[in-house]
Amino acid sequence: MADEAAGPAEGGERFDAVVVGAGISGLYALHRLRELGLSVRVIEAGDDVGGTWYWNRYPGARCDIESMIYSYSWSHELEQDWTWSERYAAQPEILRYLEHVADRFDLRRDIRFGTRVTAAAFDEDEQRWAITTDGGDALAASFLVMATGCLSVPRLPDLPGIERFAGAAYHTGSWPHEPVDFAGKRVAVIGTGSSSVQVVPAVAETAAEVVVFQRTPAFSVPAWNGPLDAEAVRERKEHYSEYRRLARETGGGNPWHTRKESVHDETPEQQQREFEARYALGGFHLHAAYYDLFTDAEANDLLSDFVRDKIRRRVNDPELAELLCPYDYPLATKRMCVDTGYYEAFNRDNVRLVSVRDTPIEEITEAGLRVGGEELRFDVIVFATGFDAMTGALARIDIRGRGGELIRDKWAAGPRNYLGLTLSGFPNLFTITGPGSPSVLSNMMVSIEQHVDFVADCIAHMRDKGFTTVEPTPEAEDGWAEHVRALGEASLYPRAKSARSWYMGANVPGKPQVLLPYVGGVGRYRRECERVVERGYEGFAFGVRQARREAPAPVATQGL
Ligand code: FAD
Ligand code: NAP
Repeated sequence: MADEAAGPAEGGERFDAVVVGAGISGLYALHRLRELGLSVRVIEAGDDVGGTWYWNRYPGARCDIESMIYSYSWSHELEQDWTWSERYAAQPEILRYLEHVADRFDLRRDIRFGTRVTAAAFDEDEQRWAITTDGGDALAASFLVMATGCLSVPRLPDLPGIERFAGAAYHTGSWPHEPVDFAGKRVAVIGTGSSSVQVVPAVAETAAEVVVFQRTPAFSVPAWNGPLDAEAVRERKEHYSEYRRLARETGGGNPWHTRKESVHDETPEQQQREFEARYALGGFHLHAAYYDLFTDAEANDLLSDFVRDKIRRRVNDPELAELLCPYDYPLATKRMCVDTGYYEAFNRDNVRLVSVRDTPIEEITEAGLRVGGEELRFDVIVFATGFDAMTGALARIDIRGRGGELIRDKWAAGPRNYLGLTLSGFPNLFTITGPGSPSVLSNMMVSIEQHVDFVADCIAHMRDKGFTTVEPTPEAEDGWAEHVRALGEASLYPRAKSARSWYMGANVPGKPQVLLPYVGGVGRYRRECERVVERGYEGFAFGVRQARREAPAPVATQGL
């Protein structure tokens, strides 16, 4: 619907849509919105496309959802032409893929790199977003699509002296572009989440010494990664649309259903057989063994025991193995990790674990760090300390809706929105994989595509009907918040709050502790969204711009 006013504007450029972020979400949003005929500008803080896969270049980084399904489904030619080399591709290959997509669909010409959006305010008279960047640019757009990522704000721990360290220090989420040479170095790795389980075995290959500082142990299961053979690739490509359809219907966005059985329907022998068979398949297959693993504490205990037993078998020293076993939270309520050789790395002479659970790291010193009064000396510190997840990137931007309300303030007690996508009081603003949507509890490719499609379809609907603004009603937002809360409360996820789960915002001091993602699964969530659309965008209020400097007339309010 190319805005007749799009083009150069006084004091800045004007677009139909501005998209913030050029990761998987931003690239697809640009493509879809362009297809609608919109003028689009993407603003990206990094110097190239890729998002997560641009920033997280640490050794060992790779996906833990199988590449053939953690890849775009919206271009038949693309999915047929591209061939992944491994079951779980490493970061360089995923980045090459996203660069290929950018080139193939000529996306870069509409992306401004190296530029951070610092503020966006909805101009109620003009019915436009006024967007400001750190480069001093001013842009105006009818629609603002936040594709800023759930895991794009790396977090350093609040340790005194962090700036004092004289050696090299890296965060996994903002890794340098040049290769880091660990040969012969004494390396500290702080953290034991998904990034750590990947970086530790890789660094241990060449470092003189790797000391892993563990506060809360992770549950990690093997990926069983390996090269993809030509026959498997051919078969998958032949039936790609079937796999994709299945992935969209399931809970986690993977092409397999969770079994309909409860743990309690089967004997201990059957349970063991089931867990073994799924463990042998690798990664998240384990989650689908029984439908009640994440709602029934007893069921989860059985799975947790099974994985703890596997950890013990992977580590030679029984005392060390016990230290690596998590007991503080039900499996997967704090993100489960998928690894290649993590526990086995502790069987090497050059890898050591220091538990900082009861004796926390006191400070970073010039030479290393201090724990229990003792200074440990290092050449390199790797901070695998995670992210201000899901709300961090949005909260860092001054986003003001009607009446100058800030998202930060609206979300002071925890995020509130409709479908995880839209906020009451913030017209024409969309948050891709926002809190309250399945996002990080799923294969994010599936969730991202569904959100971008919803946004594009909504804008197309507005064009057809002549609407110029869309936002959810406060009642719809309340209803969604209650739905998300009730599903969360019925699950085991809130139990990981005390274990500082980032799903609960509990890894960031001062952040409200609420379950951030929607736990109902991607299939159910998709059906909820489809129902909203079928009922004429139930819960949304559309407006029509009448005349310059007049408030929009509310023409259609679909209450919940
Ligand atoms: P991102 O890739 O995070 O991109 C957001 C972009 O927005 C970034 O490039 C950032 O620079 C930019 N940005 C943010 N704020 C601003 C601003 N104010 N101005 C300008 N630009 C801004 N998910 C899976 O489903 N499977 C996996 O195997 C998997 N592996 C992962 C591995 C790692 C190491 C990490 C950290 C995450 C992983 N994830 C995985 C989650 C991953 O983040 C998503 O799958 C996906 O890449 C997110 O894409 P995105 O475009 O939504 O966000
Ligand atoms: P994370 O899971 O949040 O882990 C951060 C780690 O740092 C935790 O072990 C935490 O301990 C520790 N930590 C933080 N501050 C500390 C301190 N002061 N002292 C000691 N330890 C401290 O972060 P992540 O590993 O980067 O992973 C984030 C998410 O990104 C993952 O959950 C996943 O969704 C995604 N990811 C995926 C992959 C993949 O395999 N594809 C790889 C990397 C990341 P506590 O738990 O005690 O707080």
